[in-house]
Amino acid sequence: MSTFTIWESEVTTDCKCTDENEQPITGDCWGWCLQFAEEDVAFLVEEWLERNQITDDPDEVTVLITTEAMNWDRVSAHAITTADKLVEALRINGDYRLRFKLQRTELSIVRYSHDEPTGSLFTVGIIVDERQPE
Ligand SMILES: [Zn+2]
Repeated sequence: MSTFTIWESEVTTDCKCTDENEQPITGDCWGWCLQFAEEDVAFLVEEWLERNQITDDPDEVTVLITTEAMNWDRVSAHAITTADKLVEALRINGDYRLRFKLQRTELSIVRYSHDEPTGSLFTVGIIVDERQPE
């Protein structure tokens, strides 16, 4: 895929399951829409690492998530996790929507929730381990 392709993917607690006619289902979530969405985000994260010339597996890449304004009180915050755990780090109790966007080598995520109706922007940086290989 070209480095210039903008790639977007979304994980949400809103059910996206469809029936055999591709119509939205009524009633309770069948459980696999979230799984598909998380798999799609995992592909996006792999592409992001590749564009940054990172060849380690996502679970071995340390990342820093930063926001200037989140939650109802618009606080700034940061978190350190690994590249395979971005959804885990950003999910909240209750309904949410995580909109991942890969633009060139930059990954950003906007989270929408009850307290974040206009969305909170998170940027993600890769922390490169500068130790010499043993
Ligand atoms: Zn569903």
